[in-house]
Amino acid sequence: MRFKNKKVLITGGNSGIGLVTAKLLVQEGAKVAITGRDQKTLDSAQKELGENAIAIKADVLNSEERKNAMQLIQEKFGELDAVFANAGIIKQSPLGTTTEEDFNQVLQTNITGAFFTVQAALPLLKQGSSVILNGSVMSVLGLGGSSAYSASKAGVRAMTRVLASELGPKGIRVNAVIPGATKTPIWGEETPATQARLQAISRSIPMARIGEPEEIAKAVLFLASDDSSYMQGTEIVVDGGATSSPAGAPIYLGK
Ligand code: NDP
Repeated sequence: MRFKNKKVLITGGNSGIGLVTAKLLVQEGAKVAITGRDQKTLDSAQKELGENAIAIKADVLNSEERKNAMQLIQEKFGELDAVFANAGIIKQSPLGTTTEEDFNQVLQTNITGAFFTVQAALPLLKQGSSVILNGSVMSVLGLGGSSAYSASKAGVRAMTRVLASELGPKGIRVNAVIPGATKTPIWGEETPATQARLQAISRSIPMARIGEPEEIAKAVLFLASDDSSYMQGTEIVVDGGATSSPAGAPIYLGK
């Protein structure tokens, strides 16, 4: 029970990687606060996670909702041992047809939202606590049509180092998890087209498959726990080898 009596906030905890992380944390004894915008998935996550979780409707971009969420967490938990700034969105942003609104929404959600989540949580973060930001391998892949998302995740990686410098003197660690393609609702409905897309991506991954959210969540739990007590301002890449050894992917091996 690595997380007995530990309290953790996960933004975007009502779906995908965030929800699975919340489940593993509760299994290991933590009390977890999850946030998101969609009341329906918040309700079902609350039911699934049980009494050791609180599901709070809060948009990471809404300062009033962020403030209310932190107030509620303070009332229920008193303090926080870890924050997983995980909420994020993806939108295509091809050069030539992208609107400023779409571009800004991605940057704001993924970068500004993460920054102000950490800022709002700061009064509750005690000495020895851990902050984890969610990056992406898209920050280094140069995939066409993804300027907004890729730039946002490169920003998250840079910000991790800055926040580590700012929070280190307060005894708070800040690190990032860098997932590769992972099976979550972010890819849209499970249509044959989505399956074909994920199948194609699998061929560019040395491990020849898409990641499971549990595989990302386990790295997050490591970063949130004292097991990573000497890790600061750095990253754990969980991508089946996609960015470290792409030449081993089926697509390059003629498979
Ligand atoms: P999901 O779509 O399943 O989860 C995204 C979560 O973010 C949802 O819970 C959503 O809740 C929440 N969210 C989005 N916008 C806001 C907002 N403005 N305020 C509060 N919550 C918000 O996808 P994933 O689990 O895959 O994504 C989680 C993170 O992992 C993201 O940052 C994503 O970029 C990153 N990632 C994912 C990869 C993948 O292949 N799946 C690969 C690399 C990184 P709601 O809609 O209710 O607001």
